[in-house]
Amino acid sequence: MNTKAAYVKSQGQTRKHHCHWPGCQRQVPPAMWGCRAHWYSLPIDLRSAIWRTYSPGQEVSGTPGRAYVDAARAVQEWIAKNHPQPPQQGTLL
Ligand SMILES: [Zn+2]
Repeated sequence: MNTKAAYVKSQGQTRKHHCHWPGCQRQVPPAMWGCRAHWYSLPIDLRSAIWRTYSPGQEVSGTPGRAYVDAARAVQEWIAKNHPQPPQQGTLL
């Protein structure tokens, strides 16, 4: 019924690919946006935008659609605004 979900769940760690959350080095299958903790910390509308625009196999061909690229950029903008990265170590205070 939900073939996209089945596809993503069936995908393994086919190559090195880390979570798209800035600074997160956790390895996740290329078919997934990021690790579970970070994925679920995104607002539902951004998650559904990524989900809706993701085409199974784009992570293999390396050619995500324009809509996906826009959604992925919106996610990065949301993270930058809502979860600013701490300054580099050593510069804090
Ligand atoms: Zn992560």
